[in-house]
Amino acid sequence: MIKEYTEEQEAIRRMVRDFARKEISPGAAERDATGRFDYDLYRRLGDLGITGMTFAEEYGGTGAGFLSACLAAEEIARVDMSLSWTLLVGVAGANMIVLLGSEEQKALWKEKWVLPVVRGEAVTSAAITEPDAGSDTAAIRTRAVLDGDEWVINGSKAFITNAGLENNVFTTVLCLTNPEDRRFDTIIVPKGTPGCTVMPARGKMGLRSSDTRELAFDDCRVPAINLLGPRGTGRGSIVRGFFAARIVLASTALGLAEECLVLALDYAKQRNAFGRPIAEFQHVQAMLVDMALHVELSRLIRDKAARLMEWGQPHAKESAMAKYFCCESAKQAADYAVQVFGAMGVMDETPVSRYYRDVRATTIADGTTQIQKHVIARELGCFR
Ligand SMILES: Cc1cc2nc3c(=O)[nH]c(=O)nc-3n(C[C@H](O)[C@H](O)[C@H](O)COP(=O)(O)OP(=O)(O)OC[C@H]3O[C@@H](n4cnc5c(N)ncnc54)[C@H](O)[C@@H]3O)c2cc1C
Repeated sequence: MIKEYTEEQEAIRRMVRDFARKEISPGAAERDATGRFDYDLYRRLGDLGITGMTFAEEYGGTGAGFLSACLAAEEIARVDMSLSWTLLVGVAGANMIVLLGSEEQKALWKEKWVLPVVRGEAVTSAAITEPDAGSDTAAIRTRAVLDGDEWVINGSKAFITNAGLENNVFTTVLCLTNPEDRRFDTIIVPKGTPGCTVMPARGKMGLRSSDTRELAFDDCRVPAINLLGPRGTGRGSIVRGFFAARIVLASTALGLAEECLVLALDYAKQRNAFGRPIAEFQHVQAMLVDMALHVELSRLIRDKAARLMEWGQPHAKESAMAKYFCCESAKQAADYAVQVFGAMGVMDETPVSRYYRDVRATTIADGTTQIQKHVIARELGCFR
């Protein structure tokens, strides 16, 4: 028999699935209805080592690896996509410190920020998008100017996940630092820094217990050391960071699609029409078959992208393919699931109704489907 995952990865998947079913799922509908984020629940992800999977032991992590982290995100998204997105973004800032930080920065921030993130006590946020610059990150206008030993930041960022959470410790902010050469850098802005205003939360059609805010920077001063990575390389680092984020986001979409299939199949077997279960009707089967096929294929491309990433091999094309295919497939799966449920599918009490709303952002955030196609075309050599 072909094994998709190692025994360790399977054990992690079982552990997260068990926790997700018993502890995350029961409150997911209520959190969605009220837009409430459960800090204790998030902390328990830390207790289980889920927030530390991509961190080495010296940073308090489990070193379980990137594919394991994808499997964990997938299992969480099967019951609560909002929480999986908080996690996806919540650990990213600390990962950036470990990957891009100088020895001085790592020594400075390990105890202060990295370890609390790994323990699930804290989250980070990443501010790239602006009101007038989404897909086109080169159009970013938020400006950072070096004044003595401080960066002075002015501008605004939009749709920033986790920015308003109480346990947020910092936001990585992509800033224009050299307008002449259009060079950008990522600068860490700690929570509560004067001049950085976190705007009120926006209402969303889905992902309602995931926090989304705008940030306004008005002469916001942070120490010069808060710049991550070599000067002028911020956009490149962010683009490389996108590859990993896109594979994890694709995993959340895959999880949601899998659950839509399970729920729709169960319902189709027990719902009767015309004297028999609706699962016996060919047109219903066509939806279920399509969902099953897309779940299988999504898993293949997600796993390939995650493994390439884990092995340190080029994966720009595969991460874009995973993001594109998993998210579009999940969108279709949620739509089919609602269709199979009929009127019950649009009622608040049915999980597929929440999944239908939650899935919509997946083809937009972290690079739209159209941008993924653009990346794939570039990787195919269609243009330079
Ligand atoms: C729930 C949610 C959470 C988010 N969290 C964060 C976050 O934490 N941090 C952050 O920085 N951002 C975040 N975002 C923002 C997200 O990354 C952007 O929405 C995304 O990059 C798209 O930008 P835009 O919305 O401005 O769309 P636009 O770039 O304005 O695009 C609009 C449309 O034009 C299309 N388009 C644009 N350019 C091209 C092209 N070259 N070829 C073909 N089609 C094109 C797009 O595909 C899209 O259909 C979040 C968004 C959502 C919905």
